[in-house]
Amino acid sequence: MTTALITHADCLDHVNPEGHPERVARLEHILHALEPLDLLRVGAPMAAEDDILRIHPAAYLADLRKARPNEGFGQIDGDTFLSPGSLDAAFRAAGAVIRGVDMVLGGEAQNAFAAIRPPGHHAETDTAMGFCLFGNAALAAKHALDHHGLSRVAVVDFDVHHGNGTQDLLWDEKRALLITSQQMPLWPGSGRVDEDGAYENILNIPLPPESGGAEMRAAYQGQVFPRLRDFKPELIIISAGFDAHQDDPLANLNWSTQDFAWITQQLCILADEMCDGRIVSTLEGGYDLNALSAACKAHVEELIEASK
Ligand SMILES: [Zn+2]
Repeated sequence: MTTALITHADCLDHVNPEGHPERVARLEHILHALEPLDLLRVGAPMAAEDDILRIHPAAYLADLRKARPNEGFGQIDGDTFLSPGSLDAAFRAAGAVIRGVDMVLGGEAQNAFAAIRPPGHHAETDTAMGFCLFGNAALAAKHALDHHGLSRVAVVDFDVHHGNGTQDLLWDEKRALLITSQQMPLWPGSGRVDEDGAYENILNIPLPPESGGAEMRAAYQGQVFPRLRDFKPELIIISAGFDAHQDDPLANLNWSTQDFAWITQQLCILADEMCDGRIVSTLEGGYDLNALSAACKAHVEELIEASK
């Protein structure tokens, strides 16, 4: 079939202050790297307010709207800002993952990649943090479960930081399995193995600083893939952060571009075995522009290869 690339120019209108690592150029570099690839290119719709309210309370949305400035920046915390275009960008980001789920479950695409910002996996039920406003990966899982009626959805988060927001949003969702690997210790500090969800539906994989692809592959082969096989998901959602790359300035893991290709290829093989290859991947972190665009391109190339 085909791999869908879902994005929108509004995602370039979410602007952070000068010097902030989560910058517009990240998405520009990714889109440039993906230009030559054979992809089904789809414009991200805005998520409906009801979609957002599936995971965040109305008061949270109201607070974000209040924090959005007409010019300059609104500040949520030391890391998390809103510019005038941020909410439209966030609604497009959420809309992109929802469209990805609809396309993959509807047979319009084998798999999909949402090239979006702001990212999502740090946004908790009622707390925006870590550059994230809406919990995009959790939203994709809930949409697949509640709207499409699936029984089992897995989320795999390989961003170098703990997916604390996705963990919070899916903590008591027994139809979802969240597996998240992260450098530990590292911000935000959560992600210990004993954080395992209300129904043992969360698997945290801490990785030590300075560890590389060999340690990652051992952890994924030893823990992540067997757990996925046991769970038998009907859809796999990937929180694709590329900041475990050895060149990333925000963390200290030493994965190579080839490691991101490997992890994607393995997840595609598992998806083929268990759920007709259905994967929806969404962009999270990654802050060295060259490493980010190369690793992201390698990720999408594996999705394309698996879709043939
Ligand atoms: Zn990250």
